[in-house]
Amino acid sequence: MKLIKSISSVRKRIKLAKQQGKKIALVPTMGYIHKGHLSLIKKAAKECSFVAVSIFVNPSQFAPNEDYKKYPRDIKRDMRLLKKEGVDLVFTPFVSSMYPENYKTYVTVEDLSNLLCGISRPAHFKGVATVVLKLSNILRPDIAYFGQKDAQQAIIIKKMAKDLNMDIKIKTLPIAREKNGLALSSRNLYLNRKERENAVVIYKSLRKAKELIKSGAQSAGTVISSMRKIIKSANTAKIDYISIVDTENLKPLKRLKGEILIALAVYFGRTRLIDNIIIRRKK
Ligand code: AMP
Repeated sequence: MKLIKSISSVRKRIKLAKQQGKKIALVPTMGYIHKGHLSLIKKAAKECSFVAVSIFVNPSQFAPNEDYKKYPRDIKRDMRLLKKEGVDLVFTPFVSSMYPENYKTYVTVEDLSNLLCGISRPAHFKGVATVVLKLSNILRPDIAYFGQKDAQQAIIIKKMAKDLNMDIKIKTLPIAREKNGLALSSRNLYLNRKERENAVVIYKSLRKAKELIKSGAQSAGTVISSMRKIIKSANTAKIDYISIVDTENLKPLKRLKGEILIALAVYFGRTRLIDNIIIRRKK
């Protein structure tokens, strides 16, 4: 497994792999690897003959008041975990080579970027789309793997790939969770013991929503208020949003039909956690 920092060296390595007829997978991450990342990597290794993982805490997707500086970074630990998975290449570019002085170009996927998480993080998805396009241009993967954990991100990336005629397949894989249902996230590290215990209300609320919908609930409002109640039972929780939306255009649904995304963001202390579930319901 090679660790490469320079864009030109990584291009050379990928070119060689392509000449050898390898099918290239890219798993973009911000590092502090956990089992959620590993689930994407395992799948990538099954489907492709060359697996590249990028580790890059992308400054352009953080607002000035967010956790860019304190985002957990531990490359030694990450390398140890990735080595076990048969990863071929780890790409850790410098911020100064991804965004050199006088950098000017950003990609915006309109409308989809302004909803859900885009309301409290208005520039976030512009940064995400930009870095994913840049990484795709550098590494030229056949398939890029993303987690359902960041449902809106995956939908936005798919839209960008389609709209910009990118020659790449985007795959979205299921959410890896702790035994108690808490979705794995590098940011879980920020939670103290009490907050971590309380954070299980997120998954509880999603399970309740699923149960209500499966047993016939028709109104998004009803489902959301019942989720709200569960979340509020943890007194340290502060809801950013709970939304039930169409999976294609991310617009709020009033009546529950078709493919439904239930997404939420909740603060525990200063830590903002996101989670979601997709439910398919007959029209
Ligand atoms: P991050 O390092 O948080 O930017 O995540 C890198 C990739 O891993 C993204 O595509 C995430 O959606 C995905 N990911 C993060 N957490 C999970 C999880 N718990 N289950 C599945 N995929 C995840």
